[in-house]
Amino acid sequence: RVSRGELELPEGLPDDGDHWTELRTSMREMTTRLKNREREVTRKLEQLQAVLSSMVEGVLSIDSSGHVIQANRAAANMLSFERDHLLGRKLLEVIRIPEFRAAIERTQLQRQFSSAEFVTLGTSKRRLAVRVSPIQNPQESGVSIVLQDVTELRMLEMMRRDFVANVSHELKTPLASIMAYSETLRSGAINDPEHNMEFVEQIEKQAGVLNSQIKDLMELARVESGETDFRSDEVPVNRVCERCADLLRELAARAEITLTLDLATRPVMVMGDGNALETVVNNLVTNAINYTPRGGSVRIETAADEQFGIVRVVDTGIGIKPADQARIFERFYRADKARSREKGGTGLGLSIVKHLVQAMDGRIDLESQIGRGSTFSVHLPRRTTSATVAS
Ligand code: ADP
Repeated sequence: RVSRGELELPEGLPDDGDHWTELRTSMREMTTRLKNREREVTRKLEQLQAVLSSMVEGVLSIDSSGHVIQANRAAANMLSFERDHLLGRKLLEVIRIPEFRAAIERTQLQRQFSSAEFVTLGTSKRRLAVRVSPIQNPQESGVSIVLQDVTELRMLEMMRRDFVANVSHELKTPLASIMAYSETLRSGAINDPEHNMEFVEQIEKQAGVLNSQIKDLMELARVESGETDFRSDEVPVNRVCERCADLLRELAARAEITLTLDLATRPVMVMGDGNALETVVNNLVTNAINYTPRGGSVRIETAADEQFGIVRVVDTGIGIKPADQARIFERFYRADKARSREKGGTGLGLSIVKHLVQAMDGRIDLESQIGRGSTFSVHLPRRTTSATVAS
């Protein structure tokens, strides 16, 4: 019975002498040892299954005849199969993607590591990286396959490449003007009293643009790095708005725009960062002034509801068409390129605003109509009062 794997010794084995007793004792010990080993093997197997099924990487193994002997949930999900549908099947019969098949076949034939990257078929279109290694085991000459979803990673890499290209292009534009104006001055215009000052002023203006671009890029990098805590202070919203209005009154007056404040009568306190909120309001009001024709108006409003302190910047300007509304928060996206350049815009102001608002756990909304104007509304979580803490 023991040899059949039935590890319970029958009761009442005949007890006729020392030999039997010895045999019985050693068989009892043997069955205990075997049972422990079986338990240990089961526990290890369960542990292995648990590790495999909690992995984000897909893991598959196939035997020497190409049949799937092991597949975790992630692998099945990535390849859009039911796990049970994969187990026991010949992998190359179910996989249609040429790059994936080629990598498996290469390792099967040459017994060497191979890798590939491919996009899945069907609607999900994920980009997967696959690494195939021969199983180094004398009893099993199959291969093991690890799949990693690199869709986001590749997208980020692409965004970074685009960003670097954009930055270089943006910085080159004012630099090219500076070089052109100084070249003109050097080749004679410096002695032309009617124009020389104008050229110098242009050089100063373009240097200013370059300076704003670098400042905005550094600000964006700081916000995006996530290293600064933007949520820790109590910020008096009305006071921040008043300060911004004071700072920008002259810019508005020069552009012949009426800048008004319409503040909530009670103080509005939010949890955030005073400097960050000032940058947000400043950027929004500067934009409102820049994109509103002469004679128009810009209003800064504050309010509060149960949860949020609210700042609205309302202008009677040129407006933003619906297709551009979702995109103007992207880095370097400009709806009105000519006007932005004329005003020394960097195309970064609104992406800084969006990141800062999000870093303070808030949100920004936009309503706009072409030719009528735009309203940017910022919602920031209010100070937690003792009443809310208690509840
Ligand atoms: P910029 O430095 O070009 O102003 P922003 O990131 O601040 O960059 O804004 C992106 C684009 O959104 C601007 O180029 C402009 O086309 C548009 N925009 C922003 N604010 C307004 C507004 N109040 N009215 C109309 N268009 C706006």
